[in-house]
Amino acid sequence: MKEIAVVNGTVYDPLNGIDGQKLDIFIRDGKIVTSVGKKARTINASGKIVMPGGVDIHSHIAGSKVNSGRLLRPEDHRKDVELKTEHTYSGVGYSVPSTRTTGYRYAKMGYTTVFEPATPPLKTRHTHEELDSIPLIDKACFPLLGNNWLVMEYLREGRINECAAYVSWMLKATKGYAIKIVDPGGVEAWGWGRFLRGLDDPVANFDITPREIVRGLCKVNKILNLPHIIHVHTNNLGNPGNYRTTIETMDAVKDLWDGKRPIIHITHVQFTGFSGSSWLNLGSGAPEIADYVNKNHHVSVDLGQVIFGDTTTMTADGPFQYFLHKLSGNKWVNVDVEAETGSGVVPFHYKRSNYVNAVQWGIGLELALLVNDPWRVFMTTDHPNGGPFTSYPKVIAWLMSRKAREKTMSKINRTARRRLDLPTIDREYTLGEISTVTRAAPARSLGLANKGHLAVGADADVAIYDLDPSKTDLEKNPILLRRAFKEASFTLKGGDVVSKDGKIAGTSFGKTFYVESDVSPSLEADLVKEIESKFRDYYTIELDNYPISENFLRNPSKITCEADI
Ligand SMILES: [Zn+2]
Repeated sequence: MKEIAVVNGTVYDPLNGIDGQKLDIFIRDGKIVTSVGKKARTINASGKIVMPGGVDIHSHIAGSKVNSGRLLRPEDHRKDVELKTEHTYSGVGYSVPSTRTTGYRYAKMGYTTVFEPATPPLKTRHTHEELDSIPLIDKACFPLLGNNWLVMEYLREGRINECAAYVSWMLKATKGYAIKIVDPGGVEAWGWGRFLRGLDDPVANFDITPREIVRGLCKVNKILNLPHIIHVHTNNLGNPGNYRTTIETMDAVKDLWDGKRPIIHITHVQFTGFSGSSWLNLGSGAPEIADYVNKNHHVSVDLGQVIFGDTTTMTADGPFQYFLHKLSGNKWVNVDVEAETGSGVVPFHYKRSNYVNAVQWGIGLELALLVNDPWRVFMTTDHPNGGPFTSYPKVIAWLMSRKAREKTMSKINRTARRRLDLPTIDREYTLGEISTVTRAAPARSLGLANKGHLAVGADADVAIYDLDPSKTDLEKNPILLRRAFKEASFTLKGGDVVSKDGKIAGTSFGKTFYVESDVSPSLEADLVKEIESKFRDYYTIELDNYPISENFLRNPSKITCEADI
């Protein structure tokens, strides 16, 4: 029996309504409990804050495109080397860290759960191999389904139950967690040299539109009762004026809402929050998007905050990556994944002095500060697309401190500063709101009942930071905020201390969550018969070689859902 008492900390646990109270947290065998015995190890959290472990809903940490990014960028690794220590392997990587370094760096910041948001189903075996070698955090991955030939065929034919059975089979086969949609129909269209511009542009050869794909998969999500909602990267990413597509995409499923939890998550909205009609008059569409989110409760969003500096962009949005390669002149990789999806990788440098980059920086922060409900806006940088996840402390400082924003704003492109609303926004996030947007809200959105909070029965994933809100005016001291969130005093994962004062102290490997829906066996049997012939036509591999068995994963954790078919 392993017991720990975290005593005298100032606790921020928004899912349980705790906002800065002095409380003791008790842990036994990896879970939060009501009390512990006298022999329990005591961690003194006096003068410190205590939060649930961080939960990252969208961070590209594993899989074939991440690995392509590593291969493409030796210069990214040379400047950032981690030496071997007693508890750690050596590693490299600034914007695309090696697998073990990824786990260590998240753990140091107090993060304990991270979801990889885009895996091509056919390449998910590789994704799991990498997830399995990332230590200290729980994880999961979202298979890409918005350009999948079978999904598009089923939806075109109006066979929604068969589509649901296929998605269920796919999640089981790939050990995936949620439905990811990237540039619905647009990646397939681009495979034939065509660009989709709007939600109602038909996809070549499939006679289906992005609107129909998003609506269809939203219905499928509901039929399968999946723990998360459809996770959507909209069409037109990176194009001036695309904030309209973002709002139209959210609005396309509004009538499907049952008044309960949100039904669509729009990811990295910074990249799809551009107003204007060209790069010259580009502006922030964040006020319009935030207004829509404030008025419509069927949606949630995450930021995709830009961090100035060097990074590596990577996305299933092949057409956008082609465009970015042309725009920047930087080297690139682009891939088509058989009948499923595509992807691209391009290094990028966000400059303060660049007008467009400075507007992008402003869009993410405006969105975070203008959406009123912190339960529906999550903090991300779309790692590594907006910047590396190791920059989260900077984002927290910008959200909590007007002074921090003003300091950065004084250095950005002047025209961008004049055109952004950001200088007029006074809001400063509280620690409770930070705890919401970095752990409680994403955990709730992902349907992780035992994560993102510290009530009895929750997983003992706990972060303790060296900040004393009773002694310091935090918003006036952004440097303190950055320092504290960069290196947690303690990170506990499943009740074990895995990081202490920025030093890794554990060697454990977390769980990999995946979802299975109990679709009726006869429907599934019919489906498998049907997709056997499709596999012969569409794929270079046999159907038998496609599914990933549970014992392929180091530490699988199945979540079962009751399907309505
Ligand atoms: Zn992403």
